[in-house]
Amino acid sequence: MKVADFLKEEIELESFYEKLFKRLKILDKKLNLFVDLAKDVRSERTGKLKGLPVSAKDCICVKGLQSSAGSKILNGWIPPFDATVVSRIKQENGVIIGKTHQDEFGFGTFCVNSGYGVPKNPWDPERCCGGSSGGAAALTAALDLPHLALAQSTGGSISCPASWCGVFGLTPTYGLVSRWGLIDYANSLDKIGVMAREPEGLEILLKIIAGRDDLDPTTALSHLEPAGKLKRIAVPKEYLEAAEEPVRKAVRDFCQKLESEGIELQEISLKLVKYHLPAYYLIACSEASTNLAKYCGMRYGAEEDISGDFNEYFSEVRSKYFGEEAKRRIILGTFARLAGYRDRYYLKALQVRAEIIKEYKTVFKHFDLILSPTMPCLPPRFSELSALSPLQQYQMDILTVGPNLAGLPHLTMPIGLLKGLPVGIQLTAEHWKELGLIEFAKRFQVELKYPEV
Ligand code: GLN
Repeated sequence: MKVADFLKEEIELESFYEKLFKRLKILDKKLNLFVDLAKDVRSERTGKLKGLPVSAKDCICVKGLQSSAGSKILNGWIPPFDATVVSRIKQENGVIIGKTHQDEFGFGTFCVNSGYGVPKNPWDPERCCGGSSGGAAALTAALDLPHLALAQSTGGSISCPASWCGVFGLTPTYGLVSRWGLIDYANSLDKIGVMAREPEGLEILLKIIAGRDDLDPTTALSHLEPAGKLKRIAVPKEYLEAAEEPVRKAVRDFCQKLESEGIELQEISLKLVKYHLPAYYLIACSEASTNLAKYCGMRYGAEEDISGDFNEYFSEVRSKYFGEEAKRRIILGTFARLAGYRDRYYLKALQVRAEIIKEYKTVFKHFDLILSPTMPCLPPRFSELSALSPLQQYQMDILTVGPNLAGLPHLTMPIGLLKGLPVGIQLTAEHWKELGLIEFAKRFQVELKYPEV
């Protein structure tokens, strides 16, 4: 049953939820999806969501459910409040069913850096789901009952897992959706977005969570722009070249199909793509390293018996509870912000970011959309990941960090299967044009037959 049908048809919520939680427990056992599952849910068939199940990525605070952003340092922390997106969903009688697995604080591309176990890809459990919102994507692909997922992206954490799990994922314009109650990764990059099996689902949830929030002064006063027709598409050759041949071919075939339906496509060059990853990782790690300073074993989550002075105590807690990737990023980010290096690294990266935004803006003078593969390859096997160095792992984000640096809305949609695994394209539009992206996805959507789990 689709989300749109759930909202239209007669549904008896009590028996629906009984069936749903039975199913969720089975899926969780098979694929490892949840950090925490809701208990005793109750709702009614009123409001815009009429009791619809919505899952939340672990970094989004939900009153009464563990909210740990995938980190052991927040183990057992249960917020006494809801994030703004969550309270908006609850106001419309959406039901938060649980908290989904992610890479610790969003640090990762495969969802293997989680403090609470690794979710598996429903298309092939020997493969990763993508990250960092891996649990959200895997749940969306695996659950054959109506559901929408709240996810979050800093540099591709919605696009990547959505693509590798074959679902739709929308990362909105920076500032469209409130970040109040989101456990930060990098404040100038973080966006809460949505995942669904159908583009209609993205629209339903986005309209509820979007809009100015006085609790988050970085939310914009601007509104979602009406859909309009997005029909002139730019395909950057640097993005095509970054993908492996079978993925590139699948994307080219899809482009031909678009052309045969009257869409204008043109290959262009985005000269700054080579700077996307260095600028992104410098900014993201710099901001992350300051954000993580508050986890010192005294305020939230993990604690130890106090011994030694403050420095000794918090070093002990942080060494014990942060994962390896979090430590790597704290060191990298702290280094890039050190007096003497700040101008050379962090501030330089901010200047490069401004140039990257300008380059995208120039493209949007002539085109409505930018199309690229979402990920350069198919979802890797877990056994292949250990052979990748951290740098090689970061390079997998080459196609997704650009739109995130520029705060541009982007949508990932599946275009078919290769060797039984989903392939996705990423469509990027000008700021505030998410409804246009969704219209485009509705028009050209390719229905996948999801695997039975
Ligand atoms: N893979 C990227 C990173 O590790 C993006 C993650 C994200 O968007 N949270 O930074």
